[in-house]
Amino acid sequence: METSPASAFIPAERILMGPGPSPVPQRVLRALGAPTLGHLDPQYLAIMDRTCAMLREVFRTKNALTFPVSGTGMAGMECVAVNLIEPGDEVIVGVNGVFGTRMKDVMERCGAKVHALEATWGDVISLEQLKAALDAHPQVKLVGIVHAETSTGALQPLAGFAELVHSRGALLAIDAVTSLGGHELRVDDWGIDAIYSGTQKCLSCPPGLSPVSFGERALAKMDARKTKVQSWYLDVSMLRKYYTGGGGGGRVYHHTAPINMTYALHEALMIVLEEGLDARIERHAQMHRRLRAGLEAMGLTYIPKHSLHSLNCISIPAGADDAKVRRRLLEEYGIEIGAGLGPMAGKAWRIGLMGHGATVRNVDLVLTALKNVLA
Ligand SMILES: *Cc1c(COP(=O)(O)O)cnc(C)c1O
Repeated sequence: METSPASAFIPAERILMGPGPSPVPQRVLRALGAPTLGHLDPQYLAIMDRTCAMLREVFRTKNALTFPVSGTGMAGMECVAVNLIEPGDEVIVGVNGVFGTRMKDVMERCGAKVHALEATWGDVISLEQLKAALDAHPQVKLVGIVHAETSTGALQPLAGFAELVHSRGALLAIDAVTSLGGHELRVDDWGIDAIYSGTQKCLSCPPGLSPVSFGERALAKMDARKTKVQSWYLDVSMLRKYYTGGGGGGRVYHHTAPINMTYALHEALMIVLEEGLDARIERHAQMHRRLRAGLEAMGLTYIPKHSLHSLNCISIPAGADDAKVRRRLLEEYGIEIGAGLGPMAGKAWRIGLMGHGATVRNVDLVLTALKNVLA
């Protein structure tokens, strides 16, 4: 490790192939360095409005209330939870990995009575299971599900979820942190009422913002609240006045928006839309297949049945030293991959193919590097 003062702050150019952050294109890094505007400057408001418009395209929604929460993906999770839950509300949360576990914790902190819908890590929640849980708990007001469980690499199918949840008068809230911009995701067509994501996964922007979107049903639930939102910072009834200019009184100061991060997200979304959302999703699928074929040819096996394209979770082969392999990948190849979490600690590696990182070059490099390091 270099520690002399002159070189102490020179981050290496890593090849980020872990669970996030993903590699950030130069264009996005340059956007970060543009002059900082005031957060009520008409020029900045125009940039922010375009950013929100592009987020609607990427989420595939017409929801007016679509904006980047100041904070990383966890801030988006908290934002959805604090605004849609009132103390005493019954909710159902799918728990089959780290992020479902966190969602349960966050919702409990909002005063919810959480019924966990559990599945083995690596498995997904079935529609039948959800139906049984809704039958058992008819008072449920919200169902929270992780679409892309980054801790296990499992892709949660959502077909039929919204219809079922709505038929019981509840809302469907989705964690799309690792699927937005990398997997098929249709907020309006799929009937999702509230959703949050993050910038540093398949959007290939630095961490710092959490795109969220709320539909009509979610707005109605928020408008009918009897209690104040517990979080001042994340209270959408105030935030929406700034982000949409709605609620009368025009744009008003709530907190200073992270101006330069908005530039970065704007540029990252431009790149997504230049490539085309469908083409980008297809590229993630192709790179996943290429990686999977190479890994399986080496005798490595995937843990989840429904694998994400953006996050490939494989079993560590017998005899391999988990930490040593990851250290050698980092030191010799500059490649970062992820370790296993929770019950998968020491048993799994997580290889991210997110956004700018989902390329033939990266796939072939990580395959070669793993082959060499495991030999
Ligand atoms: C990364 C991630 C989060 C949390 O995002 P942060 O940016 O780390 O706060 C939440 N949910 C899922 C599924 C994630 O992959």
